[in-house]
Amino acid sequence: MSKIGHYLQEHVTGEVISSADARRFFSTDASILSVVPALVVYPHDENDVRKVARFSWQLAERNRIIPITARGSGTDLGGAALGQGIITVFPAHMNRIVEFDSKSGNVTVEPGLNYGKLQQTLMTHGRFLPPFPSSFEYSTIGGAIANNASGEKSVKYGDTRGFVKSLRVVLANGEVIETGRLNKRELNKKLGLATFEGEIYRSLDGLLEEKQKVISAFGLPVGKNTAGYFLHDVKRSDGSIDLTPLLVGSQGTLGIITEATLETEEHNPETTLFAVSFDSIQAVQQAITELRAMPEVPSAIEMVDGKLLELVNHIYPSKIKSLVPKPFPTAILLVEFNSGERHQKKATKRAKKILDKLATGYQVENGLEEQSRLWKIRELSAMSAMHADGHAKALPIIDDGVVPLKRLTEYVEKLYELCRHFKVQPALWGRAGDGNLRLQPHLDLNQVGDRQRAFRMMDEYYRLVISLGGTTSGEYNDGRLRAPYLKPLYGDEMYEILRKVKQIFDPYNTLNPGVKIDVSLQDVRQLVRGEYDHAGRYDHLPRS
Ligand SMILES: Cc1cc2nc3c(=O)[nH]c(=O)nc-3n(C[C@H](O)[C@H](O)[C@H](O)COP(=O)(O)OP(=O)(O)OC[C@H]3O[C@@H](n4cnc5c(N)ncnc54)[C@H](O)[C@@H]3O)c2cc1C
Repeated sequence: MSKIGHYLQEHVTGEVISSADARRFFSTDASILSVVPALVVYPHDENDVRKVARFSWQLAERNRIIPITARGSGTDLGGAALGQGIITVFPAHMNRIVEFDSKSGNVTVEPGLNYGKLQQTLMTHGRFLPPFPSSFEYSTIGGAIANNASGEKSVKYGDTRGFVKSLRVVLANGEVIETGRLNKRELNKKLGLATFEGEIYRSLDGLLEEKQKVISAFGLPVGKNTAGYFLHDVKRSDGSIDLTPLLVGSQGTLGIITEATLETEEHNPETTLFAVSFDSIQAVQQAITELRAMPEVPSAIEMVDGKLLELVNHIYPSKIKSLVPKPFPTAILLVEFNSGERHQKKATKRAKKILDKLATGYQVENGLEEQSRLWKIRELSAMSAMHADGHAKALPIIDDGVVPLKRLTEYVEKLYELCRHFKVQPALWGRAGDGNLRLQPHLDLNQVGDRQRAFRMMDEYYRLVISLGGTTSGEYNDGRLRAPYLKPLYGDEMYEILRKVKQIFDPYNTLNPGVKIDVSLQDVRQLVRGEYDHAGRYDHLPRS
């Protein structure tokens, strides 16, 4: 083991590993990128995290940069769970539910806790955490908070940020802070601290004051956006400040989360599900607009397009036959309501009225068994879209953009055009209710031509999303892959503010560098791996 490894092993309670095997294992996440770390640490507790951060900070003070990347289950699709320095892996030890308050429904957790386990526990108490990602069965709550993850229920409940009440966070220099909304008096106390925390509050407060107009004028007309740093609700007009919304979605680039307290929602398992067929995307767009305007907001609006249904038919002909009759529609929407029996009856009536006029047909189910059969349309579609085609693999490179709902038709048409231009199979699915669709082109990264095609396609895709008034990331966050598009998305002035935020929290750039800020396409190109595969995901694929 290296000198640094020995030093750390002597000081932390958890394990430090530098074997080639471990480093190779942690050199990939679910993205197309690869970075081999120097060391892997399994922190036993917050004190270990504090020591690792302190160590990295002290080296940085002497001009030696050994950065830290926090890691949950490594299912990140943009390369954010990779780093060349120390990877701190949370699921091994820091994986407990610390407290559940059945009265308020609030739950306090350690970051390495498996999301699926948390959800199961909550459901036994009649509660749930709504913005769960499709990967929830094999990802962590820490990763979801750091990514500001969202999922099928986000059309009704919003993203993770809305559920995080407070955090415990290890700062770049190893200090530990607790976040939460501070009133003016409490803020003044913080501003007077002679610590790094005090310095952060002073600098950030100054920045937010100075740039208040620019920040509040900036807004994207989309329902969800995980790109950049969230600055809108940090300082309020009453002078209060809260670092929580800023740290959520910051991908370990501003601090390392060691504990989180989250709000939860009442869980109603008795849902109503519509499977609706359409003969045009225009009709899909209109139906979503009207369904979202209903008093009983749908708890999911997921889409699968006809081109993907054709692909499913090619791969699983016997399965799709019983679910969707041929000829396949232009698109199918799965629309769910979970607002309670009485409201669902009303919602069903209202939704039928909308769909009678816009859809070519629909099926409504209230029984769990029939509903899970219908959800298979979505599950089979995700599996088929990722189906390996010889050496070519479905690449998660252009699949997280969000556009305003009123541009959905235009967006889909342009996506088909993009596929035609780059000669890849079009197949769209995802969270149409949020204007957030997926398309994963099949390409072989071992082929120079396909690598170039991947980057050209990615470039056109993100520029298209930006030109439609959308965001480059609705769920998966910037990571490394989308980070080069932050500046075109936010513009020079806002981007400079985001850079300043990073400098305030991380002056030596030791917290997950290469993610979000100051990343060029050239940086990303150098990290692309040739052997991209879905190994490790097959156990879980039916859920995605
Ligand atoms: C098939 C598939 C489907 C997916 N579907 C969705 C989806 O529907 N919605 C969605 O939002 N995402 C989705 N994802 C992306 C990803 O799975 C989620 O965002 C997930 O929440 C990440 O959790 P993780 O434990 O794997 O985190 P990791 O991949 O390990 O890390 C993600 C980020 O969080 C940071 N991080 C982890 N722990 C901490 C910590 N303690 N402190 C600070 N930073 C930390 C990491 O540094 C990294 O930047 C999907 C991925 C796959 C492979």
